Amino acid sequence: MRVLLVEDEPDLASAIARALTDAGFAVDIAADGEEGVFYATEIDYDAVVLDILLPVRDGWEVVRTLRAAGRILPVIMLTARDAVEDRVRGLNLGADDYLTKPFAIEELVARLRALGRRAASHPAPELIAGDVRLDMAMRRVYQGGREVELTGREYSILEILARSRGAIVSRTEIAQHLYPDDADILSNTIDVHVASLRRKLGGALIQTRRGLGYLIEG
Ligand code: CA
Repeated sequence: MRVLLVEDEPDLASAIARALTDAGFAVDIAADGEEGVFYATEIDYDAVVLDILLPVRDGWEVVRTLRAAGRILPVIMLTARDAVEDRVRGLNLGADDYLTKPFAIEELVARLRALGRRAASHPAPELIAGDVRLDMAMRRVYQGGREVELTGREYSILEILARSRGAIVSRTEIAQHLYPDDADILSNTIDVHVASLRRKLGGALIQTRRGLGYLIEG
């Protein structure tokens, strides 16, 4: 399993990372909430371990942003002892589990393994668009039986269009989905990602409707 650890205290972060690595996980560390959102959007993690008190954007903001962007990966929040409201708030915002600090590393390992088993026992939700298949749990894309490597943003755009098969999706709708906190994204940015998707998947799948947006025919 590949795990993203979002924790701003360097000693604690490296101790947790070392223990998880020893337990067989691949671990990346993000030192603030902004970095956490960036990594979790760009890289396919199997789980996120998320502290609440973080610089730039706190853990609440991180989990809310990830869920608003359609990311369904499991999130374990690290909460203060006895902070029942914190746990409830985290679960309401879309966290899957929580651990109270301080915690035994074995417990974190066990929770992560349980999340991994849970993910493996549910058949992955799939979307089919033309000759392209999207595995939405893993955010992976296959065409003609082979996996196509997409960036996080490219995957998200493809998923929005595939979900809305047969309907035109405007650049504004795509931008709101991709960058929920930034309304001023240039529509040109979306066009660049779509051009890259066409290079990877062939030009026929995603069609342009001038002045309206993009379309995958249903
Ligand atoms: Ca902290």
